[in-house]
Amino acid sequence: MKPLKDLAGGLLDLLLPRHCAVSGRPLLAEDVGPIAPEVLREVEIAGADYCTRCGAPQGAGVGTIKECLSCREYRAGFGTREIVAVGDYSGVLKEMCLALKFGGEQRLAMILGAWLAQLVFDRGLHQKLDVVIPMPLHVFRRFHRGYNQAALIASPVAKALEKPVLDNLLKRTANTQRQAKLSAAQRKGNVANAFEVQAGRTSDIEGKLVLLVDDVMTTGATIGAAARTLKKAGAKAVYGAVCARATLGADA
Ligand SMILES: [Zn+2]
Repeated sequence: MKPLKDLAGGLLDLLLPRHCAVSGRPLLAEDVGPIAPEVLREVEIAGADYCTRCGAPQGAGVGTIKECLSCREYRAGFGTREIVAVGDYSGVLKEMCLALKFGGEQRLAMILGAWLAQLVFDRGLHQKLDVVIPMPLHVFRRFHRGYNQAALIASPVAKALEKPVLDNLLKRTANTQRQAKLSAAQRKGNVANAFEVQAGRTSDIEGKLVLLVDDVMTTGATIGAAARTLKKAGAKAVYGAVCARATLGADA
């Protein structure tokens, strides 16, 4: 006999069929999680070929490089030591980021966070970190959306790495324009003074090695501005962890 919980779950599925958060196909009782397994398998997670500076996956056999073509334009750097990215902002990974950010599919943050934590482990960065900080949203945007997708991703990352999350420490003070329609130079100016560390909390990050978590990175202007703000407030160094590395022009 099926346990009562399974039975109740089955009845609930009949009443409210679950659908894959990306493909929309109805999920079967044996499909665990919010995405159909055949869709999830399509995600190309970064392997051994990547740029340590911006996290962009590179072609097979390239190995680890310290500066790729796409980050070469950012000579000034991102204000970070290294950035980890799950993969390119395309295909299913892009759909997952969009569904999490705009489609209310908050459950996707668990999967994205698990992938990120695994990469941080694989690259040996977990030993170098003290705290995890999610990229903040401006309070108006946070209110409008109902959640901060970066905070949802940061939570399972921090749990897996056994590091504390310092939520609400970094604040977004300016309600900046959405970056998607802006050029690289405009993006940098748009977010240059957009962050501050909450008054009275600088002691929480003084001398600390921070992992800054965000969903998508395009030019790196946002992560750069946030990292510089944290370092100015006393953080020893900042590492970045993003779900997807987009190129300019992608609607991130
Ligand atoms: Zn790069």
